[in-house]
Amino acid sequence: MFMKTRWLIFDRQLKRSNSKKLLIINRKKQKTDHSSKTQNKKDNPSNRPLTTHSKSKRKLSSISRKAISKRKKRKMEKVVKVDEPIDRISELPEPIIHHILSLLNCPRDVARVTALSKKWKTIWDSFFFFQFDEKRFNSSKKDGGEKFMNFVDTSLLTKLIPMDTIHKFKISLSQTNTKLNLSMYRWLNSAINKNVKELEIHIEEKKKRLYKLPNFILTANTLTSLRLYGCTFDNEANIDLQNLKQLSIKKSYVNTDVIQSFIRGCPLVEDLRLVHCTGIGCLHISTLVKLTKVELHECHGLVLVNIELSSLLSFIYIGKKSWECKINLVGCENLKYLTLKDPNLTDEVFQDLMTKFCNLEKITLRECDNLERVTILSIKLKELVMIRCKNIEEANIDAPNLSVLEYSGEKIPFSSINIGGLHEVKLHLHKRKKGFILFKELLIFLSKFKKNGGWKMVISSNKNVTIHEKLGNVQHLKSDDLKLELIKTPFKLKEYVSNLLRMSRPKTLSLVSSSSSEFLKFVKEKIMSREKNPKCCTYYSKKCWLHYIKDVKMVVFEGGESGGTSQNLQQTTFRFIWQ
Ligand SMILES: [Zn+2]
Repeated sequence: MFMKTRWLIFDRQLKRSNSKKLLIINRKKQKTDHSSKTQNKKDNPSNRPLTTHSKSKRKLSSISRKAISKRKKRKMEKVVKVDEPIDRISELPEPIIHHILSLLNCPRDVARVTALSKKWKTIWDSFFFFQFDEKRFNSSKKDGGEKFMNFVDTSLLTKLIPMDTIHKFKISLSQTNTKLNLSMYRWLNSAINKNVKELEIHIEEKKKRLYKLPNFILTANTLTSLRLYGCTFDNEANIDLQNLKQLSIKKSYVNTDVIQSFIRGCPLVEDLRLVHCTGIGCLHISTLVKLTKVELHECHGLVLVNIELSSLLSFIYIGKKSWECKINLVGCENLKYLTLKDPNLTDEVFQDLMTKFCNLEKITLRECDNLERVTILSIKLKELVMIRCKNIEEANIDAPNLSVLEYSGEKIPFSSINIGGLHEVKLHLHKRKKGFILFKELLIFLSKFKKNGGWKMVISSNKNVTIHEKLGNVQHLKSDDLKLELIKTPFKLKEYVSNLLRMSRPKTLSLVSSSSSEFLKFVKEKIMSREKNPKCCTYYSKKCWLHYIKDVKMVVFEGGESGGTSQNLQQTTFRFIWQ
Protein backbone atom coordinates (compact mmCIF):
# COMPACT_ATOMS: atom_id res chain seq x y z
CA MET A 1 0.00 0.00 0.00
CA PHE A 2 2.79 2.37 0.92
CA MET A 3 4.71 1.71 -2.27
CA LYS A 4 1.68 2.38 -4.44
CA THR A 5 0.95 5.59 -2.62
CA ARG A 6 4.47 6.84 -3.02
CA TRP A 7 4.08 6.35 -6.75
CA LEU A 8 0.81 8.18 -6.62
CA ILE A 9 2.41 11.20 -4.97
CA PHE A 10 5.29 11.12 -7.41
CA ASP A 11 2.84 10.87 -10.28
CA ARG A 12 0.92 13.83 -8.97
CA GLN A 13 4.00 16.03 -8.89
CA LEU A 14 4.89 15.09 -12.44
CA LYS A 15 1.44 15.79 -13.73
CA ARG A 16 0.74 18.90 -11.71
CA SER A 17 2.43 21.21 -14.25
CA ASN A 18 0.56 19.57 -17.14
CA SER A 19 -2.79 19.86 -15.39
CA LYS A 20 -2.11 23.52 -14.63
CA LYS A 21 -1.51 24.21 -18.34
CA LEU A 22 -4.64 22.32 -19.23
CA LEU A 23 -6.66 24.24 -16.68
CA ILE A 24 -5.52 27.56 -18.17
CA ILE A 25 -6.39 26.39 -21.69
CA ASN A 26 -9.78 25.12 -20.54
CA ARG A 27 -10.54 28.37 -18.74
CA LYS A 28 -9.56 30.38 -21.86
CA LYS A 29 -11.82 28.15 -23.94
CA GLN A 30 -14.66 28.56 -21.49
CA LYS A 31 -14.22 32.36 -21.60
CA THR A 32 -14.25 32.51 -25.41
CA ASP A 33 -17.20 30.12 -25.56
CA HIS A 34 -19.09 32.25 -23.05
CA SER A 35 -18.34 35.56 -24.86
CA SER A 36 -19.32 34.10 -28.24
CA LYS A 37 -22.53 32.79 -26.72
CA THR A 38 -23.44 36.19 -25.28
CA GLN A 39 -22.54 37.78 -28.62
CA ASN A 40 -24.86 35.36 -30.40
CA LYS A 41 -27.61 36.15 -27.96
CA LYS A 42 -27.24 39.87 -28.66
CA ASP A 43 -27.25 39.36 -32.44
CA ASN A 44 -30.11 36.91 -32.41
CA PRO A 45 -32.50 37.73 -29.60
CA SER A 46 -35.07 35.01 -29.13
CA ASN A 47 -38.07 37.40 -29.45
CA ARG A 48 -37.14 38.42 -33.01
CA PRO A 49 -39.64 36.92 -35.57
CA LEU A 50 -38.05 34.32 -37.89
CA THR A 51 -39.02 32.97 -41.30
CA THR A 52 -39.47 29.18 -41.62
CA HIS A 53 -36.28 29.04 -43.69
CA SER A 54 -34.17 30.91 -41.19
CA LYS A 55 -35.92 28.98 -38.39
CA SER A 56 -34.87 25.62 -39.84
CA LYS A 57 -31.39 27.01 -40.59
CA ARG A 58 -31.10 28.19 -37.01
CA LYS A 59 -32.39 24.90 -35.77
CA LEU A 60 -29.84 23.04 -37.88
CA SER A 61 -26.99 25.28 -36.84
CA SER A 62 -27.99 25.03 -33.17
CA ILE A 63 -28.10 21.22 -33.46
CA SER A 64 -24.66 21.11 -35.08
CA ARG A 65 -23.32 23.62 -32.51
CA LYS A 66 -24.67 21.46 -29.71
CA ALA A 67 -23.18 18.34 -31.28
CA ILE A 68 -19.77 20.03 -31.68
CA SER A 69 -19.79 21.41 -28.16
CA LYS A 70 -20.81 17.97 -26.83
CA ARG A 71 -17.94 16.38 -28.76
CA LYS A 72 -15.54 19.03 -27.44
CA LYS A 73 -16.83 18.51 -23.92
CA ARG A 74 -16.37 14.77 -24.20
CA LYS A 75 -12.85 15.24 -25.57
CA MET A 76 -11.98 17.63 -22.75
CA GLU A 77 -13.45 15.25 -20.19
CA LYS A 78 -11.36 12.46 -21.64
CA VAL A 79 -8.18 14.56 -21.42
CA VAL A 80 -8.95 15.55 -17.84
CA LYS A 81 -9.85 11.96 -16.90
CA VAL A 82 -6.63 10.56 -18.36
CA ASP A 83 -4.52 13.27 -16.83
CA GLU A 84 -5.92 13.28 -13.30
CA PRO A 85 -4.20 10.80 -10.99
CA ILE A 86 -6.73 8.53 -9.31
CA ASP A 87 -6.48 8.74 -5.54
CA ARG A 88 -8.13 5.43 -4.76
CA ILE A 89 -7.08 5.55 -1.12
CA SER A 90 -9.12 8.70 -0.47
CA GLU A 91 -12.04 7.28 -2.42
CA LEU A 92 -12.46 4.34 -0.06
CA PRO A 93 -15.76 4.36 1.85
CA GLU A 94 -15.54 5.80 5.37
CA PRO A 95 -16.47 2.56 7.20
CA ILE A 96 -13.52 0.81 5.48
CA ILE A 97 -11.15 3.64 6.45
CA HIS A 98 -12.50 3.37 10.01
CA HIS A 99 -11.83 -0.35 10.00
CA ILE A 100 -8.25 0.07 8.72
CA LEU A 101 -7.56 2.82 11.27
CA SER A 102 -8.93 0.65 14.06
CA LEU A 103 -6.32 -1.98 13.22
CA LEU A 104 -3.40 0.40 13.69
CA ASN A 105 -1.80 0.17 17.10
CA CYS A 106 1.46 2.00 16.59
CA PRO A 107 1.48 5.84 16.41
CA ARG A 108 4.20 5.66 13.72
CA ASP A 109 1.83 3.68 11.46
CA VAL A 110 -0.94 6.17 12.12
CA ALA A 111 1.35 9.06 11.16
CA ARG A 112 2.37 7.31 7.93
CA VAL A 113 -1.15 6.37 6.95
CA THR A 114 -2.70 9.74 7.68
CA ALA A 115 0.06 11.49 5.71
CA LEU A 116 -1.26 9.77 2.58
CA SER A 117 -4.46 11.68 2.24
CA LYS A 118 -6.22 14.71 3.69
CA LYS A 119 -9.44 12.73 3.97
CA TRP A 120 -7.71 10.09 6.08
CA LYS A 121 -6.20 12.76 8.30
CA THR A 122 -9.63 14.36 8.85
CA ILE A 123 -11.19 11.01 9.63
CA TRP A 124 -8.38 10.13 12.04
CA ASP A 125 -8.76 13.47 13.83
CA SER A 126 -12.42 12.71 14.47
CA PHE A 127 -11.82 9.04 15.16
CA PHE A 128 -11.14 8.22 18.76
CA PHE A 129 -10.08 4.76 19.56
CA PHE A 130 -9.11 3.69 23.09
CA GLN A 131 -7.44 0.36 23.63
CA PHE A 132 -6.15 -0.89 26.99
CA ASP A 133 -4.53 -4.25 27.55
CA GLU A 134 -3.59 -5.27 31.06
CA LYS A 135 -1.18 -7.98 29.85
CA ARG A 136 1.17 -5.30 28.60
CA PHE A 137 1.64 -4.16 32.19
CA ASN A 138 2.94 -7.50 33.35
CA SER A 139 0.20 -7.81 35.93
CA SER A 140 1.73 -10.95 37.47
CA LYS A 141 4.07 -8.58 39.28
CA LYS A 142 2.70 -7.07 42.46
CA ASP A 143 2.33 -3.52 41.24
CA GLY A 144 1.39 -4.48 37.62
CA GLY A 145 -2.37 -4.20 38.24
CA GLU A 146 -1.89 -0.91 40.07
CA LYS A 147 0.19 0.52 37.22
CA PHE A 148 -2.44 -0.54 34.69
CA MET A 149 -5.25 1.12 36.67
CA ASN A 150 -3.25 4.33 36.99
CA PHE A 151 -2.47 4.29 33.27
CA VAL A 152 -6.15 3.88 32.27
CA ASP A 153 -7.25 6.55 34.78
CA THR A 154 -4.68 9.07 33.54
CA SER A 155 -5.37 8.34 29.86
CA LEU A 156 -9.10 8.76 30.31
CA LEU A 157 -8.67 11.91 32.36
CA THR A 158 -6.37 13.61 29.86
CA LYS A 159 -7.80 12.33 26.57
CA LEU A 160 -11.37 11.16 27.07
CA ILE A 161 -12.82 13.95 29.18
CA PRO A 162 -12.33 16.76 26.60
CA MET A 163 -14.08 14.72 23.90
CA ASP A 164 -17.76 14.68 22.95
CA THR A 165 -17.87 11.25 21.33
CA ILE A 166 -15.55 8.29 20.85
CA HIS A 167 -15.54 5.64 18.16
CA LYS A 168 -14.19 2.55 19.85
CA PHE A 169 -13.31 1.42 23.36
CA LYS A 170 -11.53 -1.87 23.91
CA ILE A 171 -10.35 -3.22 27.22
CA SER A 172 -8.65 -6.55 27.97
CA LEU A 173 -8.11 -7.91 31.49
CA SER A 174 -6.45 -11.10 32.65
CA GLN A 175 -7.89 -10.95 36.18
CA THR A 176 -10.93 -9.72 38.03
CA ASN A 177 -11.04 -8.52 41.62
CA THR A 178 -13.17 -6.09 43.58
CA LYS A 179 -10.84 -3.14 43.06
CA LEU A 180 -10.42 -3.77 39.34
CA ASN A 181 -14.16 -4.38 38.92
CA LEU A 182 -14.94 -1.03 40.52
CA SER A 183 -12.50 0.71 38.18
CA MET A 184 -13.94 -1.19 35.19
CA TYR A 185 -17.40 0.07 36.08
CA ARG A 186 -16.08 3.64 36.10
CA TRP A 187 -14.13 3.28 32.82
CA LEU A 188 -16.99 1.65 30.95
CA ASN A 189 -19.38 4.27 32.29
CA SER A 190 -17.10 7.03 30.94
CA ALA A 191 -17.00 5.38 27.52
CA ILE A 192 -20.79 4.98 27.40
CA ASN A 193 -21.23 8.60 28.48
CA LYS A 194 -19.10 9.62 25.49
CA ASN A 195 -21.53 7.81 23.15
CA VAL A 196 -19.09 5.07 22.18
CA LYS A 197 -20.05 3.19 19.02
CA GLU A 198 -17.95 0.06 19.29
CA LEU A 199 -17.30 -1.61 22.62
CA GLU A 200 -15.09 -4.63 23.21
CA ILE A 201 -14.58 -6.26 26.61
CA HIS A 202 -12.17 -9.17 26.84
CA ILE A 203 -11.73 -10.95 30.20
CA GLU A 204 -9.45 -13.96 30.02
CA GLU A 205 -9.01 -15.12 33.58
CA LYS A 206 -6.84 -18.04 34.64
CA LYS A 207 -9.47 -19.24 37.10
CA LYS A 208 -12.14 -18.76 34.41
CA ARG A 209 -14.16 -16.40 36.60
CA LEU A 210 -16.63 -14.49 34.48
CA TYR A 211 -17.09 -10.73 34.59
CA LYS A 212 -20.63 -9.59 35.38
CA LEU A 213 -21.46 -7.05 32.72
CA PRO A 214 -22.91 -3.82 34.18
CA ASN A 215 -26.55 -3.37 33.12
CA PHE A 216 -26.05 0.19 31.82
CA ILE A 217 -24.10 -1.20 28.84
CA LEU A 218 -27.15 -3.14 27.73
CA THR A 219 -29.17 0.03 27.22
CA ALA A 220 -26.48 2.13 25.48
CA ASN A 221 -28.27 3.28 22.39
CA THR A 222 -25.24 4.59 20.52
CA LEU A 223 -23.57 1.17 20.40
CA THR A 224 -23.35 -0.33 16.92
CA SER A 225 -20.96 -3.14 17.81
CA LEU A 226 -20.66 -5.08 21.07
CA ARG A 227 -18.02 -7.79 21.49
CA LEU A 228 -17.84 -9.62 24.78
CA TYR A 229 -15.46 -12.31 26.00
CA GLY A 230 -15.61 -13.98 29.42
CA CYS A 231 -18.79 -12.26 30.67
CA THR A 232 -21.99 -13.14 32.43
CA PHE A 233 -25.29 -11.22 32.56
CA ASP A 234 -27.95 -10.24 35.03
CA ASN A 235 -30.97 -12.46 34.29
CA GLU A 236 -33.37 -9.59 34.91
CA ALA A 237 -31.44 -7.03 32.86
CA ASN A 238 -33.39 -4.89 30.44
CA ILE A 239 -31.70 -5.09 27.03
CA ASP A 240 -32.36 -2.18 24.71
CA LEU A 241 -29.68 -1.69 22.06
CA GLN A 242 -31.67 -0.12 19.25
CA ASN A 243 -28.69 0.62 16.97
CA LEU A 244 -26.63 -2.50 17.50
CA LYS A 245 -25.56 -4.15 14.24
CA GLN A 246 -22.91 -6.57 15.41
CA LEU A 247 -23.16 -8.78 18.49
CA SER A 248 -20.42 -11.23 19.39
CA ILE A 249 -20.40 -13.17 22.67
CA LYS A 250 -17.51 -15.54 23.38
CA LYS A 251 -16.63 -17.82 26.29
CA SER A 252 -19.51 -16.40 28.31
CA TYR A 253 -22.46 -17.73 30.25
CA VAL A 254 -25.69 -16.79 28.47
CA ASN A 255 -28.88 -18.61 29.34
CA THR A 256 -31.84 -18.98 26.99
CA ASP A 257 -33.76 -16.10 28.66
CA VAL A 258 -30.84 -13.68 28.28
CA ILE A 259 -30.22 -14.58 24.63
CA GLN A 260 -33.93 -14.14 23.88
CA SER A 261 -33.80 -10.71 25.62
CA PHE A 262 -30.87 -9.81 23.33
CA ILE A 263 -32.92 -10.86 20.30
CA ARG A 264 -35.89 -8.75 21.44
CA GLY A 265 -33.75 -5.76 22.41
CA CYS A 266 -31.43 -5.56 19.36
CA PRO A 267 -33.82 -5.27 16.39
CA LEU A 268 -31.19 -4.11 13.88
CA VAL A 269 -28.57 -6.80 14.42
CA GLU A 270 -26.98 -7.94 11.13
CA ASP A 271 -24.23 -10.19 12.45
CA LEU A 272 -24.63 -12.52 15.45
CA ARG A 273 -21.80 -14.69 16.81
CA LEU A 274 -22.01 -17.02 19.78
CA VAL A 275 -18.70 -18.78 20.38
CA HIS A 276 -18.00 -21.32 23.17
CA CYS A 277 -20.91 -20.00 25.22
CA THR A 278 -22.64 -22.09 27.85
CA GLY A 279 -26.21 -21.94 29.11
CA ILE A 280 -28.10 -21.55 25.81
CA GLY A 281 -30.40 -24.52 25.39
CA CYS A 282 -32.58 -23.25 22.55
CA LEU A 283 -32.11 -20.42 20.10
CA HIS A 284 -35.16 -19.06 18.28
CA ILE A 285 -34.75 -16.18 15.85
CA SER A 286 -37.59 -14.93 13.68
CA THR A 287 -37.85 -11.18 14.31
CA LEU A 288 -34.38 -9.86 13.40
CA VAL A 289 -35.22 -8.83 9.85
CA LYS A 290 -31.75 -7.36 9.18
CA LEU A 291 -29.85 -10.44 10.30
CA THR A 292 -27.66 -11.77 7.48
CA LYS A 293 -24.98 -13.75 9.31
CA VAL A 294 -25.18 -16.24 12.19
CA GLU A 295 -22.18 -18.08 13.63
CA LEU A 296 -22.54 -20.70 16.36
CA HIS A 297 -19.29 -22.29 17.58
CA GLU A 298 -19.34 -25.15 20.06
CA CYS A 299 -21.95 -23.69 22.40
CA HIS A 300 -22.15 -26.40 25.05
CA GLY A 301 -25.72 -27.40 25.83
CA LEU A 302 -27.28 -25.95 22.66
CA VAL A 303 -29.80 -28.56 21.52
CA LEU A 304 -32.14 -26.63 19.24
CA VAL A 305 -31.66 -23.84 16.70
CA ASN A 306 -34.71 -22.40 14.97
CA ILE A 307 -34.08 -19.60 12.50
CA GLU A 308 -36.89 -18.29 10.36
CA LEU A 309 -35.54 -15.37 8.37
CA SER A 310 -35.48 -14.66 4.64
CA SER A 311 -32.65 -12.14 5.25
CA LEU A 312 -30.16 -14.82 6.36
CA LEU A 313 -27.29 -15.20 3.87
CA SER A 314 -24.64 -16.99 5.88
CA PHE A 315 -24.94 -19.70 8.55
CA ILE A 316 -22.01 -21.32 10.34
CA TYR A 317 -22.51 -24.13 12.82
CA ILE A 318 -19.56 -25.75 14.59
CA GLY A 319 -20.66 -28.60 16.85
CA LYS A 320 -19.15 -31.48 18.80
CA LYS A 321 -19.68 -35.21 18.83
CA SER A 322 -20.65 -35.19 22.52
CA TRP A 323 -23.96 -33.38 21.99
CA GLU A 324 -26.57 -33.32 19.28
CA CYS A 325 -28.21 -30.14 18.12
CA LYS A 326 -31.26 -29.97 15.91
CA ILE A 327 -31.06 -27.20 13.33
CA ASN A 328 -34.15 -25.83 11.61
CA LEU A 329 -33.57 -23.11 9.07
CA VAL A 330 -37.15 -22.76 7.95
CA GLY A 331 -37.78 -19.92 5.52
CA CYS A 332 -34.10 -19.05 5.10
CA GLU A 333 -34.53 -19.55 1.37
CA ASN A 334 -31.91 -16.91 0.47
CA LEU A 335 -29.07 -18.66 2.26
CA LYS A 336 -25.88 -18.44 0.17
CA TYR A 337 -23.07 -19.63 2.45
CA LEU A 338 -23.38 -22.71 4.64
CA THR A 339 -20.61 -24.04 6.89
CA LEU A 340 -21.18 -27.14 8.98
CA LYS A 341 -18.75 -28.86 11.29
CA ASP A 342 -21.08 -31.40 12.77
CA PRO A 343 -19.92 -34.96 13.53
CA ASN A 344 -23.57 -35.93 14.05
CA LEU A 345 -24.81 -34.74 10.65
CA THR A 346 -26.41 -37.64 8.80
CA ASP A 347 -26.76 -38.21 5.05
CA GLU A 348 -30.54 -37.73 5.30
CA VAL A 349 -30.32 -34.36 7.13
CA PHE A 350 -27.69 -33.09 4.67
CA GLN A 351 -29.75 -34.16 1.63
CA ASP A 352 -32.77 -32.45 3.17
CA LEU A 353 -30.74 -29.22 3.51
CA MET A 354 -29.65 -29.51 -0.13
CA THR A 355 -33.20 -29.71 -1.39
CA LYS A 356 -34.34 -26.76 0.77
CA PHE A 357 -31.56 -24.32 -0.09
CA CYS A 358 -31.26 -23.94 -3.85
CA ASN A 359 -29.42 -20.60 -3.65
CA LEU A 360 -26.30 -21.90 -1.92
CA GLU A 361 -23.11 -20.57 -3.52
CA LYS A 362 -20.62 -21.98 -1.04
CA ILE A 363 -20.84 -25.15 1.04
CA THR A 364 -18.17 -26.03 3.61
CA LEU A 365 -18.31 -29.38 5.39
CA ARG A 366 -15.69 -29.97 8.10
CA GLU A 367 -15.26 -33.15 10.06
CA CYS A 368 -18.81 -34.31 9.35
CA ASP A 369 -17.79 -37.85 10.24
CA ASN A 370 -21.25 -39.35 9.96
CA LEU A 371 -21.57 -38.49 6.29
CA GLU A 372 -21.12 -41.43 3.93
CA ARG A 373 -22.88 -40.51 0.71
CA VAL A 374 -23.40 -37.00 -0.58
CA THR A 375 -25.22 -35.83 -3.68
CA ILE A 376 -25.18 -32.19 -4.70
CA LEU A 377 -27.23 -30.98 -7.65
CA SER A 378 -27.04 -27.22 -7.96
CA ILE A 379 -26.86 -24.52 -10.59
CA LYS A 380 -25.82 -21.78 -8.15
CA LEU A 381 -22.99 -23.55 -6.30
CA LYS A 382 -19.58 -21.94 -6.94
CA GLU A 383 -17.41 -23.29 -4.15
CA LEU A 384 -17.37 -26.65 -2.37
CA VAL A 385 -15.06 -27.37 0.57
CA MET A 386 -14.92 -30.81 2.21
CA ILE A 387 -12.36 -31.14 4.98
CA ARG A 388 -11.64 -34.38 6.86
CA CYS A 389 -15.13 -35.93 6.62
CA LYS A 390 -13.46 -39.23 7.35
CA ASN A 391 -16.20 -41.71 6.53
CA ILE A 392 -17.25 -40.26 3.22
CA GLU A 393 -17.37 -42.99 0.57
CA GLU A 394 -19.14 -41.37 -2.33
CA ALA A 395 -19.74 -37.84 -3.53
CA ASN A 396 -21.74 -37.13 -6.66
CA ILE A 397 -21.46 -33.49 -7.65
CA ASP A 398 -23.42 -32.03 -10.52
CA ALA A 399 -22.87 -28.29 -10.28
CA PRO A 400 -22.00 -26.77 -13.68
CA ASN A 401 -20.98 -23.44 -12.14
CA LEU A 402 -18.68 -24.90 -9.48
CA SER A 403 -15.37 -23.05 -9.89
CA VAL A 404 -13.45 -23.96 -6.70
CA LEU A 405 -13.21 -27.42 -5.13
CA GLU A 406 -11.25 -28.05 -1.96
CA TYR A 407 -10.94 -31.49 -0.45
CA SER A 408 -8.92 -32.97 2.36
CA GLY A 409 -9.02 -36.63 3.39
CA GLU A 410 -7.59 -40.11 3.03
CA LYS A 411 -9.45 -41.13 -0.10
CA ILE A 412 -10.95 -39.44 -3.15
CA PRO A 413 -14.72 -39.94 -3.00
CA PHE A 414 -15.74 -38.07 -6.17
CA SER A 415 -17.34 -40.83 -8.17
CA SER A 416 -19.00 -38.37 -10.50
CA ILE A 417 -18.25 -34.70 -10.79
CA ASN A 418 -19.07 -32.09 -13.39
CA ILE A 419 -15.80 -30.21 -13.86
CA GLY A 420 -16.93 -27.97 -16.72
CA GLY A 421 -16.85 -24.75 -14.67
CA LEU A 422 -13.88 -25.58 -12.40
CA HIS A 423 -10.91 -23.23 -12.22
CA GLU A 424 -9.16 -24.40 -9.10
CA VAL A 425 -8.93 -27.73 -7.26
CA LYS A 426 -7.12 -28.21 -3.96
CA LEU A 427 -6.54 -31.71 -2.66
CA HIS A 428 -4.82 -32.59 0.58
CA LEU A 429 -4.39 -36.34 0.80
CA HIS A 430 -3.34 -37.88 4.09
CA LYS A 431 -1.62 -41.16 4.64
CA ARG A 432 -4.12 -43.90 5.49
CA LYS A 433 -3.76 -45.47 8.88
CA LYS A 434 -3.28 -48.85 7.27
CA GLY A 435 -1.49 -48.41 3.99
CA PHE A 436 -0.66 -45.50 1.73
CA ILE A 437 -2.48 -43.06 -0.48
CA LEU A 438 -4.08 -44.96 -3.30
CA PHE A 439 -2.45 -43.47 -6.35
CA LYS A 440 -4.85 -45.32 -8.61
CA GLU A 441 -7.73 -43.27 -7.16
CA LEU A 442 -5.75 -40.11 -7.73
CA LEU A 443 -4.81 -41.00 -11.30
CA ILE A 444 -8.46 -41.81 -12.11
CA PHE A 445 -9.47 -38.45 -10.65
CA LEU A 446 -6.77 -36.62 -12.61
CA SER A 447 -7.72 -38.36 -15.84
CA LYS A 448 -10.98 -36.34 -15.78
CA PHE A 449 -8.91 -33.17 -16.00
CA LYS A 450 -6.60 -34.39 -18.76
CA LYS A 451 -9.46 -34.39 -21.26
CA ASN A 452 -10.41 -30.88 -20.27
CA GLY A 453 -7.13 -29.20 -21.28
CA GLY A 454 -5.20 -26.26 -19.91
CA TRP A 455 -4.73 -27.55 -16.36
CA LYS A 456 -1.46 -27.12 -14.48
CA MET A 457 -0.67 -29.12 -11.37
CA VAL A 458 1.23 -28.08 -8.27
CA ILE A 459 2.42 -30.82 -5.92
CA SER A 460 3.90 -29.89 -2.58
CA SER A 461 5.36 -32.17 0.01
CA ASN A 462 7.90 -31.46 2.74
CA LYS A 463 8.79 -28.00 1.42
CA ASN A 464 9.45 -29.37 -2.07
CA VAL A 465 7.14 -27.95 -4.71
CA THR A 466 6.79 -29.28 -8.24
CA ILE A 467 4.72 -27.59 -10.91
CA HIS A 468 3.66 -29.66 -13.91
CA GLU A 469 2.69 -27.57 -16.88
CA LYS A 470 0.99 -30.56 -18.48
CA LEU A 471 -1.13 -33.10 -16.65
CA GLY A 472 -0.34 -35.97 -19.00
CA ASN A 473 3.09 -36.59 -17.60
CA VAL A 474 2.42 -37.20 -13.94
CA GLN A 475 3.78 -40.55 -12.93
CA HIS A 476 5.74 -40.15 -9.75
CA LEU A 477 3.75 -39.15 -6.70
CA LYS A 478 5.80 -40.37 -3.78
CA SER A 479 4.71 -39.00 -0.47
CA ASP A 480 2.69 -39.90 2.61
CA ASP A 481 1.12 -36.51 2.88
CA LEU A 482 0.45 -34.84 -0.40
CA LYS A 483 -0.85 -31.43 -1.28
CA LEU A 484 -1.98 -31.12 -4.81
CA GLU A 485 -3.44 -28.15 -6.60
CA LEU A 486 -4.89 -27.96 -10.05
CA ILE A 487 -4.92 -24.48 -11.49
CA LYS A 488 -6.42 -23.45 -14.78
CA THR A 489 -5.62 -19.79 -15.29
CA PRO A 490 -1.95 -18.85 -15.99
CA PHE A 491 -2.45 -15.66 -13.97
CA LYS A 492 -3.44 -17.70 -10.89
CA LEU A 493 -0.34 -19.86 -11.31
CA LYS A 494 1.91 -16.80 -11.35
CA GLU A 495 0.08 -15.54 -8.28
CA TYR A 496 0.62 -18.95 -6.66
CA VAL A 497 4.39 -18.80 -7.17
CA SER A 498 4.59 -15.22 -5.88
CA ASN A 499 2.59 -16.19 -2.77
CA LEU A 500 4.60 -19.36 -2.23
CA LEU A 501 7.85 -17.44 -2.18
CA ARG A 502 6.42 -14.71 -0.01
CA MET A 503 4.68 -16.88 2.56
CA SER A 504 6.85 -19.98 2.85
CA ARG A 505 10.44 -20.76 2.11
CA PRO A 506 10.50 -23.90 -0.02
CA LYS A 507 13.60 -26.09 -0.18
CA THR A 508 13.10 -26.65 -3.89
CA LEU A 509 10.81 -25.38 -6.59
CA SER A 510 10.70 -27.52 -9.73
CA LEU A 511 8.98 -26.89 -13.00
CA VAL A 512 8.27 -29.65 -15.49
CA SER A 513 7.68 -27.86 -18.77
CA SER A 514 8.86 -27.38 -22.30
CA SER A 515 12.10 -25.42 -22.62
CA SER A 516 10.23 -22.59 -24.40
CA SER A 517 7.53 -22.25 -21.72
CA GLU A 518 6.43 -18.67 -20.96
CA PHE A 519 5.84 -19.64 -17.35
CA LEU A 520 9.38 -21.01 -17.05
CA LYS A 521 10.67 -17.65 -18.32
CA PHE A 522 8.57 -15.87 -15.69
CA VAL A 523 9.86 -18.07 -12.83
CA LYS A 524 13.48 -17.86 -14.02
CA GLU A 525 13.33 -14.09 -14.24
CA LYS A 526 11.65 -13.77 -10.86
CA ILE A 527 14.21 -15.93 -9.08
CA MET A 528 17.45 -15.63 -11.04
CA SER A 529 17.22 -11.95 -11.99
CA ARG A 530 16.26 -10.76 -8.53
CA GLU A 531 17.82 -7.68 -7.01
CA LYS A 532 20.79 -8.34 -4.77
CA ASN A 533 19.89 -5.61 -2.33
CA PRO A 534 16.11 -5.34 -2.59
CA LYS A 535 14.65 -1.94 -1.86
CA CYS A 536 11.12 -3.19 -1.31
CA CYS A 537 9.44 -3.70 2.10
CA THR A 538 11.17 -0.63 3.61
CA TYR A 539 8.17 0.09 5.79
CA TYR A 540 7.41 -3.45 6.86
CA SER A 541 8.87 -5.32 9.79
CA LYS A 542 8.00 -8.61 8.06
CA LYS A 543 9.87 -8.57 4.79
CA CYS A 544 9.33 -10.57 1.62
CA TRP A 545 11.36 -13.60 0.49
CA LEU A 546 13.92 -11.53 -1.41
CA HIS A 547 15.41 -10.35 1.89
CA TYR A 548 16.02 -13.85 3.25
CA ILE A 549 17.44 -15.59 0.23
CA LYS A 550 21.11 -16.48 0.53
CA ASP A 551 21.63 -18.38 -2.66
CA VAL A 552 19.73 -20.26 -5.37
CA LYS A 553 21.05 -22.97 -7.64
CA MET A 554 19.25 -23.82 -10.85
CA VAL A 555 19.55 -27.36 -12.21
CA VAL A 556 18.01 -28.52 -15.48
CA PHE A 557 17.17 -32.17 -16.15
CA GLU A 558 16.47 -32.83 -19.80
CA GLY A 559 13.57 -35.15 -20.61
CA GLY A 560 11.09 -34.65 -17.81
CA GLU A 561 11.12 -35.66 -14.19
CA SER A 562 14.74 -36.43 -13.33
CA GLY A 563 14.47 -39.85 -14.96
CA GLY A 564 12.90 -38.90 -18.22
CA THR A 565 9.25 -39.24 -19.17
CA SER A 566 8.93 -37.25 -22.33
CA GLN A 567 11.50 -36.03 -24.81
CA ASN A 568 9.90 -32.61 -25.14
CA LEU A 569 9.90 -31.82 -21.45
CA GLN A 570 12.53 -30.67 -19.05
CA GLN A 571 12.59 -30.30 -15.30
CA THR A 572 14.05 -27.07 -13.99
CA THR A 573 14.75 -27.18 -10.26
CA PHE A 574 15.61 -24.18 -8.10
CA ARG A 575 17.34 -25.14 -4.84
CA PHE A 576 17.06 -22.42 -2.25
CA ILE A 577 19.45 -21.64 0.55
CA TRP A 578 17.72 -19.38 3.03
CA GLN A 579 19.35 -17.10 5.57
ZN1 LIG B 1 10.70 -7.09 -0.06
